[in-house]
Amino acid sequence: MKPVTAPELIKQVIQPNYCSGCGVCTTHQVFKMKLNKHGQYVPVLNSGQAEKTVVCPFASHQVNENDLAQEQFDTPGIKFHNEIGYYQKIYAGYVNEGNFRKNGSSGGSVSWFTHQLLSSREVDYIVHVSEQNQAVIRFNYNISDSLESNIKASKSKYYPTTLEASLQFIKEHEGKYAVVGLPCFIKGINLLKKQDPLFEKRIRFSISLFCGHLKSTHYLSSLLAQFDTGNKLVKHFDFRHKTPGHKASDYSTKIVLDNGKSLIKNNQDLFGTNWGWGLFKLKACDYCDDIIGETADISFGDAWTPRYENDYLGTNIVVVRNAGLEKIIRKNIDNQHLQYEEISPETLIESQAGGFRHRREGLAYRLYLQQKKNQIIPEKRIKPEKIKSKKRRKLYKIRMQLQEKSFYSINYNNIEKLKSELMPLIRQLEQVYEHSAWTKFRLKLKKWLKK
Ligand SMILES: Cc1cc2nc3c(=O)[nH]c(=O)nc-3n(C[C@H](O)[C@H](O)[C@H](O)COP(=O)(O)OP(=O)(O)OC[C@H]3O[C@@H](n4cnc5c(N)ncnc54)[C@H](O)[C@@H]3O)c2cc1C
Ligand code: SF4
Ligand code: SF4
Repeated sequence: MKPVTAPELIKQVIQPNYCSGCGVCTTHQVFKMKLNKHGQYVPVLNSGQAEKTVVCPFASHQVNENDLAQEQFDTPGIKFHNEIGYYQKIYAGYVNEGNFRKNGSSGGSVSWFTHQLLSSREVDYIVHVSEQNQAVIRFNYNISDSLESNIKASKSKYYPTTLEASLQFIKEHEGKYAVVGLPCFIKGINLLKKQDPLFEKRIRFSISLFCGHLKSTHYLSSLLAQFDTGNKLVKHFDFRHKTPGHKASDYSTKIVLDNGKSLIKNNQDLFGTNWGWGLFKLKACDYCDDIIGETADISFGDAWTPRYENDYLGTNIVVVRNAGLEKIIRKNIDNQHLQYEEISPETLIESQAGGFRHRREGLAYRLYLQQKKNQIIPEKRIKPEKIKSKKRRKLYKIRMQLQEKSFYSINYNNIEKLKSELMPLIRQLEQVYEHSAWTKFRLKLKKWLKK
């Protein structure tokens, strides 16, 4: 692995805005993180540190996700799949024990796992994201050393975060840690472990969430703007409120005001929640090819396929790479604390089909477009390519425009203005979708008539 100097990082990642804000480059005090006016964390160089080297999930270090995973997991019995990388076993299921599933976004498995690691003293601390009870920064990384604070950190936060303060804490406090993060954050942690033996010794487990994309803080602001909160402060925000009678994927947003009143709106009634539009998405997410956290000991996502999605309480997909964690799963399937069944890589891919298309075919085309404009592109496992389908080229181009327009919009607090700014592009996108559905139908009909 070849770490990069601060000027190299600025040129390769920070200036072209391929940064996801993970904060891994802040260790050794080279950079500090700042939340900018677009609601995104960005690194700022500390004076006199330009000669020090850093690691970053988006810089060119001559090691990619496959290399990092191979070093950790390539042992007898491990399998490798071109799309999903290394794995011991893949499961779909949920937690039967306690309130983990009820409190979780999906099957409650992440919080159950971190609970197991803490209560068995495998680790002393969990590094994960929890609510901050601040109006400006609503969620960020936090360190849990008790089972109570672990469970309080449940649920997905579609909100930017940074590991800056947690990495400093790990440096200053001896102990065993497990880190929960998005795939690029976990890749950053693995690079850091290679660079610095202190992190290698202290971070014992990495747990990844699957990741479609991450939003700026303006996404949350745009949702809040659609609730009538009066002049009350919002003391709790839940991006993933579960609704009985609905599919697991058809969830709601819930807020609790400082007078204790709860307000709930189904996401279908909130503008901007269609994940396919990618509103307020970080640009980095369009240049990322790790959907499931291939370098983590274990990864968790949502099983949104017809077999599982009808259960509104939620079902996880779980990819295990660490043999020790696989033993914990086996034992807890046997004692029925976990209701898990083994699934194939194809079922996993089916559950994330949109994500795989956008970050394989779509990524190849976006890299091609950037290269054509002589822009710097990050080193990826996917290579730049002009894809064949004209329709899909159009779709990816509109998505890129929508990402940029929404990300830099100043209308995130004013939904009517935001709608009039974005709807023309959204309509174009929907037309391409409709067109694709019509083409698919025509092809099917043609095939059927031939028979
Ligand atoms: C930005 C984002 C995008 C996602 N995209 C997809 C996707 O495309 N497909 C898919 O299948 N699943 C995706 N997920 C994962 C999914 O939403 C669930 O988090 C996952 O299934 C685990 O559910 P659970 O019930 O087991 O977790 P819970 O028991 O609810 O625990 C969640 C854990 O994740 C931590 N956490 C929450 N938000 C963050 C964050 N932003 N960064 C780091 N840690 C966090 C919490 O602190 C907690 O430890 C995404 C999650 C996030 C945050
Ligand atoms: S992605 Fe992370 S390591 Fe890279 S520049 Fe951004 S904050 Fe720093
Ligand atoms: S999509 Fe990729 S770059 Fe964006 S937050 Fe998720 S893992 Fe990181």
